[in-house]
Amino acid sequence: MDDDVPQEGGDLPLEPVEDFFYADEAFVRREKAKAQEIRRSQWWKNRRSSGICHYCGRKFPPAELTMDHLIPISRGGRSVHGNLVPCCKECNNRKKYLLPMEWQEYLDRLAQGKPDAPAEANGDDGNGHD
Ligand SMILES: [Zn+2]
Repeated sequence: MDDDVPQEGGDLPLEPVEDFFYADEAFVRREKAKAQEIRRSQWWKNRRSSGICHYCGRKFPPAELTMDHLIPISRGGRSVHGNLVPCCKECNNRKKYLLPMEWQEYLDRLAQGKPDAPAEANGDDGNGHD
């Protein structure tokens, strides 16, 4: 019962958005405001407290995770729970600067367990801390 953010009923916006969709200014402003609201919600705090980046699966201090839209608002993505994920700064930057195709390739590499990130000693997922 910590869910104080109005939720959109029905379908999550997880299918590719048609190319002819252009988010208008009012839509972008509204969804950004909604995202800000959700950022303050208990739902988001719980979500982020896992400390796990949605994309690379590595663990971070919760304060280092940002909120990311799976489908960007500019592509018609909405600020609903199903479209919002915790994301580390590295992935966030990649997503911003890579072309959608390159980003998809990065995700594919991650899915194969081969992120091209430098090997670091902090990504151990075997600590069963949940
Ligand atoms: Zn990440």
